[in-house]
Amino acid sequence: MPNPMSFSYDPSRAFNAFTDYWRWGMHVQRAWTAQLSGEEGIARLRARRLEELLVHAHAESAFYRRHHHASSATTRELPEYAPVDKTTLMSHFDEWVTDPRLRYDRIEEFISDPQRIGEPYLGRYAIWTSSGSTGQPGVFVQDEDALAIYDALLATRFPISGAAVSPFQTLATGGRFAMIAALGGHFAGVVSWERLRREYPWLRTATKTFSVLAPIRELVASLNEFQPSVLASYPTTLLLLARERQAGRLQLQPRALWSGGETLAETERAEIAQAFGCAVIDGYGASEFLNIAYDCGHGSLHLNSDWVILEPIDAQGRPVPPGERSTSVLLTNLANRVQPLIRYDLGDSVCFKRASCACGSPFPAIEVEGRRDDIVTFANDAGEPVAMPPLALATIVEEGAGVHRFQIIQTGERALHVRFAPAHGERRDQTWTRIERCLREYLAHQGLHRIRIRPDDSPPRADPVSGKLREVLGLRPSPAAARRHKAGSRRERRS
Ligand SMILES: [Zn+2]
Repeated sequence: MPNPMSFSYDPSRAFNAFTDYWRWGMHVQRAWTAQLSGEEGIARLRARRLEELLVHAHAESAFYRRHHHASSATTRELPEYAPVDKTTLMSHFDEWVTDPRLRYDRIEEFISDPQRIGEPYLGRYAIWTSSGSTGQPGVFVQDEDALAIYDALLATRFPISGAAVSPFQTLATGGRFAMIAALGGHFAGVVSWERLRREYPWLRTATKTFSVLAPIRELVASLNEFQPSVLASYPTTLLLLARERQAGRLQLQPRALWSGGETLAETERAEIAQAFGCAVIDGYGASEFLNIAYDCGHGSLHLNSDWVILEPIDAQGRPVPPGERSTSVLLTNLANRVQPLIRYDLGDSVCFKRASCACGSPFPAIEVEGRRDDIVTFANDAGEPVAMPPLALATIVEEGAGVHRFQIIQTGERALHVRFAPAHGERRDQTWTRIERCLREYLAHQGLHRIRIRPDDSPPRADPVSGKLREVLGLRPSPAAARRHKAGSRRERRS
């Protein structure tokens, strides 16, 4: 994908395209070799990389030395090391990272500036921020090898068949690539995209990002104009666009659609694929590892087990066998050395499939239950339904109001409640004023001026079945309302 003949870069504003290209090529080669080496070859690679990671972490990270009691044992198996979580790691940030020049207070300055999204930090690192669903913001630093490995996995692990085309093939053949996402912060997907655009300026005309906060009608107009051949977004946004496509307002013939950031249900995949007449490619990634698993095109997500280890666990932290759904999962990132993640509690529910996949991949097939919120449909002044993706509402409260633990609950066609924990060091009413203002501005932009917004005194509550906090809960419509708002009802019924 990267074209070494046409780059020009400002070293202070871009990554080093030439060395990055070389590094990328090397990791593409390794990714192919791993795939060809079969299950045993992959297991050997993984074991060697894990050993190297542990040696490195114990030598360079004061946090892991202490956390693992590293001097007392050198030959332990991975499950013998104590797990870590985001709160613990974030509160020991400066000791956790393995480059002493990385200091949390300085990085905070960097990430508070949206102009610097995609800019290399200290000339070499990518910085990603994430909220996650736990309510604890995270800051993730990626080194050059990790970035090249993520890019290489993206380029090599792909459904080979049919219309499922990679973004690299798309761009190489003159196609256009669009992404609809939350753009306002240093989020992994956006930073990765901006990094490539800074590094390879020729990508700029062929790629475009759109904000998930834009009203659907604006997105439809922008996409009609840009005409991307590959479109990437959250499944809920793709679902709303599929309905626009069916209604004839969105005129787009993409070669493929990419879904990520939320769980894609099979019924939704079928609906989106049918509306657009092309494949919907699912992906599973996180700020902690950009592409944990890839969609093989045969109905499975395959773990990139040469570079990432997942250990499914139950509520007591005990291992969960294949075929059973876990409560959470521990992630070990074998690609990134600057900020080691070893047995990190990711929070997602994962199931390793027992049966092998029809595609014959040597990488294990998994099912993932990640983020899964509702599309919310309000009625505007004229009584017409206005649907919005849950990530837009969540982003408004999180990024706009700076509140990390909250739950937005639709209580009527024109009403919503918000449960929330006040921002650090603030009175409840101060936090609420900000939440209400941000939500009101956003809804007004969607043409919704008469929505009742109320604070809810009860704290955000986890789903009793999954144990996960769902941040956006849509209305469960009465049969009459369901008929009136057919467009918004399908997803809500499932929940
Ligand atoms: Zn497969």
